[in-house]
Amino acid sequence: MDKFYVPSWDDIESAVIEVGRTLLLDGFVPDVLVAIATGGLIPAKLLSDLLDVNSIREVEAKFYKSVGVTGSKPVIRSAHLDGIENRKVLVVDDVSDSGETLNAVVNLVSMFSPKAVKTATLYVKPWARTVPDYYHSKIDRWIVFPWDKWAVVRENPSVDVANIEKFKQINELLRSLH
Ligand code: 5GP
Ligand code: MG
Ligand code: MG
Repeated sequence: MDKFYVPSWDDIESAVIEVGRTLLLDGFVPDVLVAIATGGLIPAKLLSDLLDVNSIREVEAKFYKSVGVTGSKPVIRSAHLDGIENRKVLVVDDVSDSGETLNAVVNLVSMFSPKAVKTATLYVKPWARTVPDYYHSKIDRWIVFPWDKWAVVRENPSVDVANIEKFKQINELLRSLH
């Protein structure tokens, strides 16, 4: 089995639409999205436009150093959470793996006295200890998103993604300038 799962933009769009539909069928219409940067930024933007939510806040968290390799716990590097008091908040990330990142961000968001907090990701790993309230599907491999594929390819040049030759040229140019 392939070590990586590489969803297309079309797969991402389908996943976002499914997550949005599930939220609405559950009667949860968020007032504010909290994106977990950086991987959750684009899913949060897509969901905000789909659901006509005009308020996005952001928490920057870092856990994985490279494919499958974590630090000891997720580190919150910055948080912009103004105006979420007494609001229905949806925390959005691209994927929940162990669930530690979602836990850390939900704990932080809860300190700002929101009316409600729910979580959504596009994908979840089958072993996640914290499963988001809403997600599209379970994937048991490392997911290479359209928005982080160059970071993965830089360390794993054999991953099969579109435009890899153009990336390698840019990467060589970059190195020659360092
Ligand atoms: P957790 O804290 O649930 O173990 O990991 C979640 C965070 O790590 C997410 O913010 C996500 O950006 C990153 N992450 C975990 N698994 C994957 C994966 O398979 N692919 C990518 N691209 N990021 C992942
Ligand atoms: Mg992330
Ligand atoms: Mg704009």
